[in-house]
Amino acid sequence: MKSTIPKKNVLNYKKKLKIKIVSFNEPYLCKNCKIVINKKCNLCKTSKKQSLSGTLIRRKLLKGRTIPNYFMDKRISKMLSKSSII
Ligand SMILES: [Zn+2]
Repeated sequence: MKSTIPKKNVLNYKKKLKIKIVSFNEPYLCKNCKIVINKKCNLCKTSKKQSLSGTLIRRKLLKGRTIPNYFMDKRISKMLSKSSII
């Protein structure tokens, strides 16, 4: 059996949703320095890192919390709220 969605349609969906997938090393938050790092923190050399994921940010939004500005640019987090979660 073939895929249920024809390839042509998938491309259409992509256009409609304006999907853009960006892949890079998963960013982490150093809990000590409150900075976003990609690998090991150079400042404190510890590994108290917290994964920065969309899920985490969504969870914060759902609880009505604001996103700390070390997570995200203030100008962006200001625009986000519960209602921005799909
Ligand atoms: Zn650190």
